[in-house]
Amino acid sequence: MPELPEVETIRRTLENRVKGSKIDRVLLYWNKSVEGWDGQKFEDIVEGQRIESLERRGKYLLITLDGGWSLVAHMRMTGRLVYFPEAQVPDKHTHVVFVLEAGELHFSDIRKFGRIKAVPTPDRLLHPSLKILGPEPLEEDFTVGYLVLALARKKVNLKTALLDQTVLAGLGNIYVDEALFLAGLSPERLANSLSPEEIEKLHKAIQTVLQAGIDAQGTSFRDYRDANGEKGSFQRELKVYGRAIEPCYTCGRPLERKRLGGRTTVFCSHCQN
Ligand SMILES: [Zn+2]
Repeated sequence: MPELPEVETIRRTLENRVKGSKIDRVLLYWNKSVEGWDGQKFEDIVEGQRIESLERRGKYLLITLDGGWSLVAHMRMTGRLVYFPEAQVPDKHTHVVFVLEAGELHFSDIRKFGRIKAVPTPDRLLHPSLKILGPEPLEEDFTVGYLVLALARKKVNLKTALLDQTVLAGLGNIYVDEALFLAGLSPERLANSLSPEEIEKLHKAIQTVLQAGIDAQGTSFRDYRDANGEKGSFQRELKVYGRAIEPCYTCGRPLERKRLGGRTTVFCSHCQN
């Protein structure tokens, strides 16, 4: 699933391609991929509008249109937004095509969990999935002090706590495992058991792995592609994610795999305490 660095990379690559473009037509191949506001038809809202700006909140991409509307896109498992400079025959997983003044934007999704909603721009952050989100991990309001308070309230393990989007927006399975390895903290530790020094390490590790992920244009472990259809390269820098049983890069012992917070978790029980 695209996490913060992948969605941020999609945002940046898309911004270069479509900012300022008018959406001439919307072609729907699978209606459930999109939703209009309050039962309004998606095409009626979107057609003829110009793309003003592209922002990100957590794992959500926010596309602001002129005329008071925004598109809120959530890729979920396998959603992709790819720009083509020329008209392109949609493949069987393409569910929506935005025909632009120049080029086309295709939304494809093999698993069909991704969604694009049209919402009035003033209300978009009040969307039920968006208004509950915790702070952005790379912005100023994510402080060590915030993390101290947020974790003190959590009587669950660290893996579960960090996957919780109300604690922090944008982290998922890959970057939580990587951040905990970098911080030397076991994913099984109770979130409210960390010392101030450990929380400081965790805060720094979260920011470090997310920034490294963005710098590498994301992790293409399976399906992820940016808006130019290109893979990211952070999969080459992963220390634990996807490496169960393989030797730990620090101590050489085999990495462990456990199910925590409903997700497969990989860690080194020697280096992470
Ligand atoms: Zn180790």
